[in-house]
Amino acid sequence: MSGVFDPAVFLPDDLLERIRERAPIHDRENTFPQQDLDELRAAGYLSILVPAERGGAGLGLAEAAILQQRLATAAPATALAINMHLVWTGVAKVFSDRGVPGLEFVQDGAVAGEVFAFGISEGGNDLVLFGSDTDAAPLQDGGYAFTGTKIFTSLAPVWTRLGLHGLDTTSDDAPKLVFAFVERTDAVTTSDDWDTLGMRGTQSRTTRLAGAQAAPEHVVRRIDPGPNPDPIVFGIFSVFEILLASVYTGIARRALDVAVQTAATRRSKKTGATYSQDPDIRWRIADMALAYDALPPQIAALARDVDERVDHGARWFTQLSGVKHRAITMAKHVVDQAMLVAGGGSYFSSNELSRLYRDVLAGAFHPSDPESAHATAASAWLGPLDS
Ligand SMILES: Cc1cc2nc3c(=O)[nH]c(=O)nc-3n(C[C@H](O)[C@H](O)[C@H](O)COP(=O)(O)OP(=O)(O)OC[C@H]3O[C@@H](n4cnc5c(N)ncnc54)[C@H](O)[C@@H]3O)c2cc1C
Repeated sequence: MSGVFDPAVFLPDDLLERIRERAPIHDRENTFPQQDLDELRAAGYLSILVPAERGGAGLGLAEAAILQQRLATAAPATALAINMHLVWTGVAKVFSDRGVPGLEFVQDGAVAGEVFAFGISEGGNDLVLFGSDTDAAPLQDGGYAFTGTKIFTSLAPVWTRLGLHGLDTTSDDAPKLVFAFVERTDAVTTSDDWDTLGMRGTQSRTTRLAGAQAAPEHVVRRIDPGPNPDPIVFGIFSVFEILLASVYTGIARRALDVAVQTAATRRSKKTGATYSQDPDIRWRIADMALAYDALPPQIAALARDVDERVDHGARWFTQLSGVKHRAITMAKHVVDQAMLVAGGGSYFSSNELSRLYRDVLAGAFHPSDPESAHATAASAWLGPLDS
Protein backbone atom coordinates (compact mmCIF):
# COMPACT_ATOMS: atom_id res chain seq x y z
CA MET A 1 0.00 0.00 0.00
CA SER A 2 1.18 3.49 -0.75
CA GLY A 3 -0.43 6.92 -0.36
CA VAL A 4 -2.93 7.97 2.30
CA PHE A 5 -5.08 5.09 3.47
CA ASP A 6 -8.82 5.81 3.37
CA PRO A 7 -10.76 3.17 5.36
CA ALA A 8 -14.05 4.28 3.76
CA VAL A 9 -12.87 2.89 0.43
CA PHE A 10 -12.87 -0.64 1.85
CA LEU A 11 -15.64 -0.16 4.40
CA PRO A 12 -17.98 2.50 3.02
CA ASP A 13 -20.11 4.59 5.40
CA ASP A 14 -23.42 3.27 4.05
CA LEU A 15 -22.35 -0.35 4.48
CA LEU A 16 -21.16 0.41 8.00
CA GLU A 17 -24.54 1.99 8.84
CA ARG A 18 -26.46 -1.05 7.57
CA ILE A 19 -24.24 -3.31 9.66
CA ARG A 20 -24.80 -1.03 12.67
CA GLU A 21 -28.59 -1.21 12.24
CA ARG A 22 -28.57 -5.00 12.12
CA ALA A 23 -26.30 -5.47 15.16
CA PRO A 24 -29.01 -5.17 17.85
CA ILE A 25 -31.26 -7.57 15.95
CA HIS A 26 -28.62 -10.31 15.80
CA ASP A 27 -27.81 -9.72 19.45
CA ARG A 28 -31.47 -9.96 20.50
CA GLU A 29 -32.30 -12.93 18.28
CA ASN A 30 -28.95 -14.70 18.85
CA THR A 31 -28.37 -15.12 15.11
CA PHE A 32 -25.37 -15.00 12.82
CA PRO A 33 -25.15 -11.75 10.78
CA GLN A 34 -25.43 -13.44 7.39
CA GLN A 35 -26.26 -10.23 5.53
CA ASP A 36 -23.20 -8.53 7.02
CA LEU A 37 -21.04 -11.37 5.75
CA ASP A 38 -22.68 -11.29 2.30
CA GLU A 39 -22.19 -7.55 1.95
CA LEU A 40 -18.64 -7.63 3.28
CA ARG A 41 -17.79 -10.46 0.88
CA ALA A 42 -19.28 -8.51 -2.03
CA ALA A 43 -17.20 -5.49 -1.01
CA GLY A 44 -14.00 -7.60 -1.16
CA TYR A 45 -13.49 -7.44 2.61
CA LEU A 46 -12.67 -11.15 2.93
CA SER A 47 -9.58 -10.70 0.76
CA ILE A 48 -8.24 -7.36 2.05
CA LEU A 49 -5.06 -9.10 3.25
CA VAL A 50 -4.50 -11.06 0.03
CA PRO A 51 -1.78 -9.61 -2.24
CA ALA A 52 -3.09 -7.71 -5.27
CA GLU A 53 -1.29 -10.07 -7.67
CA ARG A 54 -3.46 -12.92 -6.31
CA GLY A 55 -6.65 -10.91 -6.65
CA GLY A 56 -6.96 -9.31 -3.22
CA ALA A 57 -6.79 -5.71 -2.03
CA GLY A 58 -3.12 -6.06 -1.06
CA LEU A 59 -3.51 -4.32 2.29
CA GLY A 60 -1.07 -4.74 5.15
CA LEU A 61 -1.90 -5.74 8.71
CA ALA A 62 -1.68 -2.06 9.69
CA GLU A 63 -4.56 -1.17 7.34
CA ALA A 64 -6.57 -4.26 8.27
CA ALA A 65 -6.24 -3.28 11.94
CA ILE A 66 -7.70 0.17 11.18
CA LEU A 67 -10.57 -1.42 9.24
CA GLN A 68 -11.34 -3.87 12.04
CA GLN A 69 -11.49 -1.00 14.53
CA ARG A 70 -13.92 0.74 12.20
CA LEU A 71 -16.06 -2.37 11.72
CA ALA A 72 -16.19 -2.99 15.48
CA THR A 73 -17.64 0.49 16.05
CA ALA A 74 -20.68 -0.72 14.12
CA ALA A 75 -21.01 -4.35 15.18
CA PRO A 76 -18.49 -5.91 17.58
CA ALA A 77 -19.72 -9.46 16.99
CA THR A 78 -19.50 -9.14 13.21
CA ALA A 79 -15.99 -7.73 13.54
CA LEU A 80 -14.91 -10.49 15.93
CA ALA A 81 -16.31 -13.24 13.70
CA ILE A 82 -14.69 -11.83 10.55
CA ASN A 83 -11.49 -11.45 12.58
CA MET A 84 -11.08 -15.23 12.63
CA HIS A 85 -11.13 -15.36 8.81
CA LEU A 86 -8.77 -12.38 8.64
CA VAL A 87 -6.38 -14.15 11.03
CA TRP A 88 -5.85 -17.02 8.57
CA THR A 89 -5.47 -14.68 5.60
CA GLY A 90 -3.09 -12.60 7.73
CA VAL A 91 -1.03 -15.68 8.57
CA ALA A 92 -0.94 -16.45 4.84
CA LYS A 93 0.44 -12.94 4.30
CA VAL A 94 3.07 -13.41 7.01
CA PHE A 95 4.11 -16.58 5.15
CA SER A 96 4.17 -15.07 1.66
CA ASP A 97 5.95 -11.88 2.84
CA ARG A 98 8.70 -14.08 4.28
CA GLY A 99 8.94 -16.45 1.32
CA VAL A 100 7.37 -19.37 3.23
CA PRO A 101 5.18 -21.43 0.88
CA GLY A 102 2.06 -23.40 1.85
CA LEU A 103 -0.83 -21.01 2.47
CA GLU A 104 -1.45 -19.80 -1.09
CA PHE A 105 -4.65 -21.87 -1.12
CA VAL A 106 -5.95 -19.71 1.75
CA GLN A 107 -5.30 -16.57 -0.28
CA ASP A 108 -6.94 -18.01 -3.41
CA GLY A 109 -9.82 -19.37 -1.34
CA ALA A 110 -10.46 -15.99 0.29
CA VAL A 111 -10.56 -14.32 -3.14
CA ALA A 112 -13.00 -17.01 -4.32
CA GLY A 113 -15.31 -16.26 -1.37
CA GLU A 114 -14.39 -19.08 1.01
CA VAL A 115 -14.82 -18.40 4.73
CA PHE A 116 -12.03 -19.63 6.99
CA ALA A 117 -12.76 -20.38 10.65
CA PHE A 118 -10.25 -20.71 13.46
CA GLY A 119 -10.42 -24.08 15.21
CA ILE A 120 -7.77 -23.81 17.90
CA SER A 121 -9.55 -23.59 21.29
CA GLU A 122 -10.28 -26.84 23.13
CA GLY A 123 -11.88 -27.33 26.55
CA GLY A 124 -9.21 -27.28 29.23
CA ASN A 125 -6.30 -26.78 26.78
CA ASP A 126 -4.43 -23.87 28.32
CA LEU A 127 -1.39 -24.75 26.16
CA VAL A 128 -3.45 -23.22 23.30
CA LEU A 129 -1.09 -23.11 20.29
CA PHE A 130 1.56 -25.26 21.96
CA GLY A 131 -0.49 -28.42 22.45
CA SER A 132 -3.73 -30.12 21.47
CA ASP A 133 -6.08 -32.80 22.74
CA THR A 134 -7.33 -33.38 19.19
CA ASP A 135 -5.95 -36.54 17.61
CA ALA A 136 -4.25 -36.05 14.24
CA ALA A 137 -3.99 -39.46 12.60
CA PRO A 138 -1.65 -39.65 9.58
CA LEU A 139 -3.18 -41.00 6.37
CA GLN A 140 -1.44 -43.03 3.66
CA ASP A 141 -1.48 -40.14 1.18
CA GLY A 142 0.20 -37.61 3.52
CA GLY A 143 -3.08 -36.11 4.72
CA TYR A 144 -4.44 -36.27 8.27
CA ALA A 145 -7.70 -37.27 9.95
CA PHE A 146 -8.66 -35.15 12.97
CA THR A 147 -10.76 -36.39 15.88
CA GLY A 148 -11.61 -34.20 18.83
CA THR A 149 -13.68 -31.24 20.02
CA LYS A 150 -12.99 -27.60 19.31
CA ILE A 151 -14.83 -25.01 21.36
CA PHE A 152 -15.90 -21.45 20.57
CA THR A 153 -15.64 -21.83 16.78
CA SER A 154 -16.80 -18.40 15.56
CA LEU A 155 -18.47 -18.27 12.12
CA ALA A 156 -19.86 -21.74 12.94
CA PRO A 157 -22.92 -21.61 10.66
CA VAL A 158 -21.04 -20.33 7.62
CA TRP A 159 -17.42 -21.40 7.45
CA THR A 160 -16.32 -23.41 4.45
CA ARG A 161 -12.87 -24.33 5.74
CA LEU A 162 -11.67 -24.82 9.28
CA GLY A 163 -8.00 -24.19 10.09
CA LEU A 164 -7.09 -26.29 13.13
CA HIS A 165 -4.39 -28.13 15.00
CA GLY A 166 -4.11 -31.62 16.44
CA LEU A 167 -1.45 -33.94 17.86
CA ASP A 168 0.12 -36.73 15.82
CA THR A 169 1.25 -39.38 18.32
CA THR A 170 1.88 -42.28 15.94
CA SER A 171 4.30 -41.20 13.20
CA ASP A 172 7.97 -42.20 13.53
CA ASP A 173 8.94 -38.66 14.48
CA ALA A 174 5.96 -38.17 16.87
CA PRO A 175 4.83 -36.26 18.76
CA LYS A 176 4.13 -33.55 16.19
CA LEU A 177 1.62 -30.77 16.33
CA VAL A 178 -0.13 -30.64 12.96
CA PHE A 179 -1.71 -27.47 11.55
CA ALA A 180 -4.10 -28.10 8.66
CA PHE A 181 -7.41 -27.14 7.05
CA VAL A 182 -10.47 -29.36 6.78
CA GLU A 183 -13.63 -28.87 4.77
CA ARG A 184 -17.17 -29.07 6.12
CA THR A 185 -18.11 -32.74 5.63
CA ASP A 186 -20.20 -35.31 7.53
CA ALA A 187 -17.15 -35.85 9.76
CA VAL A 188 -17.74 -32.39 11.26
CA THR A 189 -20.68 -31.65 13.56
CA THR A 190 -21.54 -28.16 14.71
CA SER A 191 -23.67 -27.97 17.86
CA ASP A 192 -26.29 -25.29 18.24
CA ASP A 193 -25.00 -24.29 21.69
CA TRP A 194 -24.07 -20.60 21.45
CA ASP A 195 -26.18 -18.69 23.98
CA THR A 196 -23.91 -16.20 25.70
CA LEU A 197 -23.89 -12.94 27.60
CA GLY A 198 -22.41 -10.98 24.71
CA MET A 199 -20.83 -11.33 21.27
CA ARG A 200 -23.92 -13.29 20.36
CA GLY A 201 -23.63 -12.75 16.61
CA THR A 202 -20.28 -14.59 16.41
CA GLN A 203 -22.14 -17.91 16.84
CA SER A 204 -18.95 -19.47 18.19
CA ARG A 205 -20.38 -22.95 18.58
CA THR A 206 -18.76 -26.26 19.59
CA THR A 207 -17.28 -28.27 16.70
CA ARG A 208 -16.93 -32.04 16.92
CA LEU A 209 -14.49 -33.72 14.55
CA ALA A 210 -14.82 -37.45 13.88
CA GLY A 211 -11.99 -38.25 11.49
CA ALA A 212 -12.31 -34.97 9.55
CA GLN A 213 -9.76 -35.23 6.76
CA ALA A 214 -7.25 -32.67 5.59
CA ALA A 215 -5.82 -33.29 2.12
CA PRO A 216 -1.98 -33.45 1.95
CA GLU A 217 -1.82 -30.04 0.26
CA HIS A 218 -3.83 -28.56 3.15
CA VAL A 219 -1.48 -29.85 5.85
CA VAL A 220 0.42 -26.67 6.48
CA ARG A 221 2.86 -27.46 9.26
CA ARG A 222 4.11 -30.34 11.44
CA ILE A 223 6.07 -28.95 14.38
CA ASP A 224 7.32 -30.03 17.80
CA PRO A 225 4.77 -29.35 20.55
CA GLY A 226 5.64 -26.53 22.96
CA PRO A 227 7.03 -23.05 22.34
CA ASN A 228 8.39 -23.00 18.83
CA PRO A 229 9.91 -20.34 16.54
CA ASP A 230 8.07 -21.76 13.50
CA PRO A 231 6.41 -19.13 11.27
CA ILE A 232 2.98 -20.67 11.96
CA VAL A 233 3.34 -19.79 15.65
CA PHE A 234 4.60 -16.27 15.00
CA GLY A 235 2.04 -15.78 12.22
CA ILE A 236 -0.96 -16.79 14.32
CA PHE A 237 0.27 -15.05 17.45
CA SER A 238 1.07 -11.73 15.79
CA VAL A 239 -1.96 -11.43 13.54
CA PHE A 240 -4.39 -12.76 16.16
CA GLU A 241 -3.27 -10.44 18.98
CA ILE A 242 -3.15 -7.33 16.78
CA LEU A 243 -6.53 -7.87 15.14
CA LEU A 244 -8.14 -8.81 18.44
CA ALA A 245 -6.75 -5.65 20.05
CA SER A 246 -8.28 -3.79 17.10
CA VAL A 247 -11.80 -5.16 17.64
CA TYR A 248 -11.85 -4.20 21.32
CA THR A 249 -10.27 -0.81 20.62
CA GLY A 250 -13.10 -0.23 18.13
CA ILE A 251 -15.64 -1.02 20.85
CA ALA A 252 -13.98 1.56 23.10
CA ARG A 253 -14.10 4.13 20.33
CA ARG A 254 -17.82 3.60 19.87
CA ALA A 255 -18.48 3.84 23.61
CA LEU A 256 -16.54 7.10 23.73
CA ASP A 257 -18.49 8.51 20.77
CA VAL A 258 -21.82 7.49 22.32
CA ALA A 259 -20.80 9.00 25.66
CA VAL A 260 -19.85 12.28 24.00
CA GLN A 261 -23.18 12.40 22.12
CA THR A 262 -25.11 11.65 25.31
CA ALA A 263 -23.24 14.26 27.33
CA ALA A 264 -24.13 16.84 24.70
CA THR A 265 -27.87 16.08 24.92
CA ARG A 266 -28.57 15.16 28.57
CA ARG A 267 -29.43 18.29 30.52
CA SER A 268 -29.11 18.86 34.24
CA LYS A 269 -32.18 20.24 36.02
CA LYS A 270 -29.84 21.52 38.73
CA THR A 271 -27.79 23.76 36.43
CA GLY A 272 -29.87 23.92 33.26
CA ALA A 273 -26.74 23.11 31.28
CA THR A 274 -25.98 19.97 29.29
CA TYR A 275 -23.85 17.35 30.98
CA SER A 276 -21.00 18.24 28.64
CA GLN A 277 -20.60 21.31 30.90
CA ASP A 278 -20.51 19.27 34.10
CA PRO A 279 -16.93 19.10 35.50
CA ASP A 280 -17.33 15.50 36.68
CA ILE A 281 -18.65 14.32 33.31
CA ARG A 282 -15.92 16.27 31.51
CA TRP A 283 -13.32 14.54 33.67
CA ARG A 284 -14.86 11.16 32.94
CA ILE A 285 -14.89 11.73 29.16
CA ALA A 286 -11.32 13.00 29.34
CA ASP A 287 -10.33 9.91 31.30
CA MET A 288 -11.87 7.71 28.60
CA ALA A 289 -10.14 9.64 25.83
CA LEU A 290 -6.77 9.50 27.59
CA ALA A 291 -7.08 5.73 27.88
CA TYR A 292 -8.42 5.19 24.33
CA ASP A 293 -5.91 7.45 22.58
CA ALA A 294 -2.97 5.24 23.58
CA LEU A 295 -4.16 2.16 21.74
CA PRO A 296 -4.55 2.97 18.01
CA PRO A 297 -0.91 4.14 17.71
CA GLN A 298 0.37 1.07 19.59
CA ILE A 299 -1.61 -1.24 17.33
CA ALA A 300 -0.45 0.64 14.23
CA ALA A 301 3.22 0.50 15.25
CA LEU A 302 3.20 -3.24 15.96
CA ALA A 303 1.18 -4.04 12.84
CA ARG A 304 3.61 -2.03 10.75
CA ASP A 305 6.52 -3.93 12.28
CA VAL A 306 4.88 -7.23 11.29
CA ASP A 307 4.28 -5.88 7.78
CA GLU A 308 7.86 -4.63 7.49
CA ARG A 309 9.35 -7.79 9.03
CA VAL A 310 11.02 -5.95 11.91
CA ASP A 311 12.49 -8.55 14.24
CA HIS A 312 11.82 -7.91 17.93
CA GLY A 313 13.15 -11.38 18.79
CA ALA A 314 11.89 -12.73 22.10
CA ARG A 315 10.38 -9.29 22.88
CA TRP A 316 7.71 -9.93 20.24
CA PHE A 317 5.66 -12.08 22.59
CA THR A 318 5.41 -9.52 25.39
CA GLN A 319 4.74 -6.80 22.86
CA LEU A 320 1.91 -8.73 21.22
CA SER A 321 0.23 -10.20 24.29
CA GLY A 322 0.76 -6.79 25.91
CA VAL A 323 -1.08 -4.81 23.25
CA LYS A 324 -3.98 -7.27 23.35
CA HIS A 325 -4.10 -7.10 27.16
CA ARG A 326 -3.95 -3.29 27.21
CA ALA A 327 -6.66 -3.06 24.54
CA ILE A 328 -9.15 -5.27 26.36
CA THR A 329 -8.44 -3.64 29.74
CA MET A 330 -8.77 -0.17 28.26
CA ALA A 331 -11.95 -1.07 26.37
CA LYS A 332 -13.63 -2.46 29.48
CA HIS A 333 -12.70 0.65 31.45
CA VAL A 334 -13.95 2.96 28.69
CA VAL A 335 -17.28 1.16 28.31
CA ASP A 336 -17.72 1.24 32.11
CA GLN A 337 -17.18 4.99 32.12
CA ALA A 338 -19.51 5.46 29.15
CA MET A 339 -22.31 3.74 31.07
CA LEU A 340 -21.82 6.18 33.93
CA VAL A 341 -21.78 9.20 31.60
CA ALA A 342 -24.96 8.00 29.89
CA GLY A 343 -26.79 7.34 33.16
CA GLY A 344 -29.55 4.87 33.94
CA GLY A 345 -30.84 4.79 30.37
CA SER A 346 -27.76 2.79 29.42
CA TYR A 347 -28.98 -0.03 31.68
CA PHE A 348 -31.89 -0.80 29.37
CA SER A 349 -31.35 -3.75 27.03
CA SER A 350 -32.38 -1.60 24.08
CA ASN A 351 -29.49 0.80 24.73
CA GLU A 352 -26.40 0.26 22.58
CA LEU A 353 -24.10 0.78 25.55
CA SER A 354 -25.62 -2.13 27.41
CA ARG A 355 -24.75 -4.36 24.44
CA LEU A 356 -21.22 -2.95 24.26
CA TYR A 357 -20.93 -3.59 27.99
CA ARG A 358 -21.76 -7.27 27.46
CA ASP A 359 -19.67 -7.60 24.30
CA VAL A 360 -16.54 -6.06 25.80
CA LEU A 361 -16.43 -8.67 28.59
CA ALA A 362 -15.51 -11.38 26.05
CA GLY A 363 -12.11 -9.75 25.53
CA ALA A 364 -10.55 -11.24 28.64
CA PHE A 365 -11.25 -14.81 27.54
CA HIS A 366 -9.34 -14.73 24.27
CA PRO A 367 -5.68 -15.65 24.29
CA SER A 368 -3.57 -14.14 25.66
CA ASP A 369 -5.80 -14.04 28.73
CA PRO A 370 -4.70 -11.80 31.62
CA GLU A 371 -2.84 -14.65 33.38
CA SER A 372 -0.94 -15.62 30.25
CA ALA A 373 -0.10 -12.00 29.33
CA HIS A 374 1.26 -11.40 32.85
CA ALA A 375 3.25 -14.66 32.84
CA THR A 376 4.81 -13.70 29.50
CA ALA A 377 5.71 -10.21 30.74
CA ALA A 378 7.06 -11.52 34.07
CA SER A 379 9.30 -14.03 32.28
CA ALA A 380 10.55 -11.33 29.91
CA TRP A 381 11.57 -9.02 32.77
CA LEU A 382 12.41 -11.45 35.59
CA GLY A 383 13.48 -14.55 33.67
CA PRO A 384 11.70 -17.91 33.88
CA LEU A 385 10.39 -19.36 37.16
CA ASP A 386 12.83 -21.64 39.03
CA SER A 387 11.48 -25.15 38.87
C1 LIG B 1 -16.76 -14.48 21.65
C2 LIG B 1 -15.67 -15.46 21.56
C3 LIG B 1 -15.27 -15.96 20.32
C4 LIG B 1 -14.25 -16.90 20.21
N1 LIG B 1 -13.91 -17.38 18.99
C5 LIG B 1 -12.95 -18.34 18.87
C6 LIG B 1 -12.65 -18.93 17.60
O1 LIG B 1 -13.22 -18.59 16.56
N2 LIG B 1 -11.72 -19.91 17.56
C7 LIG B 1 -11.06 -20.35 18.66
O2 LIG B 1 -10.21 -21.22 18.55
N3 LIG B 1 -11.34 -19.83 19.89
C8 LIG B 1 -12.27 -18.84 20.02
N4 LIG B 1 -12.58 -18.31 21.26
C9 LIG B 1 -12.13 -19.07 22.44
C10 LIG B 1 -11.24 -18.38 23.39
O3 LIG B 1 -10.11 -18.01 22.76
C11 LIG B 1 -10.98 -19.27 24.63
O4 LIG B 1 -10.39 -20.45 24.25
C12 LIG B 1 -12.28 -19.60 25.32
O5 LIG B 1 -12.84 -18.38 25.75
C13 LIG B 1 -12.07 -20.56 26.48
O6 LIG B 1 -11.47 -19.90 27.52
P1 LIG B 1 -11.09 -20.64 28.87
O7 LIG B 1 -10.08 -21.69 28.58
O8 LIG B 1 -10.78 -19.59 29.87
O9 LIG B 1 -12.48 -21.30 29.23
P2 LIG B 1 -12.86 -22.44 30.23
O10 LIG B 1 -14.04 -21.94 30.98
O11 LIG B 1 -11.69 -22.95 31.02
O12 LIG B 1 -13.33 -23.57 29.24
C14 LIG B 1 -14.37 -23.37 28.31
C15 LIG B 1 -15.27 -24.62 28.29
O13 LIG B 1 -14.44 -25.77 28.03
C16 LIG B 1 -14.86 -26.85 28.79
N5 LIG B 1 -13.73 -27.31 29.63
C17 LIG B 1 -12.98 -26.58 30.47
N6 LIG B 1 -12.04 -27.34 31.02
C18 LIG B 1 -12.20 -28.58 30.55
C19 LIG B 1 -11.52 -29.81 30.72
N7 LIG B 1 -10.46 -29.92 31.53
N8 LIG B 1 -11.96 -30.86 30.03
C20 LIG B 1 -12.99 -30.78 29.20
N9 LIG B 1 -13.69 -29.64 28.99
C21 LIG B 1 -13.29 -28.56 29.65
C22 LIG B 1 -16.01 -26.41 29.64
O14 LIG B 1 -17.19 -26.84 29.03
C23 LIG B 1 -15.94 -24.91 29.62
O15 LIG B 1 -17.22 -24.34 29.64
C24 LIG B 1 -13.59 -17.36 21.38
C25 LIG B 1 -13.97 -16.85 22.62
C26 LIG B 1 -14.99 -15.92 22.73
C27 LIG B 1 -15.36 -15.39 24.09
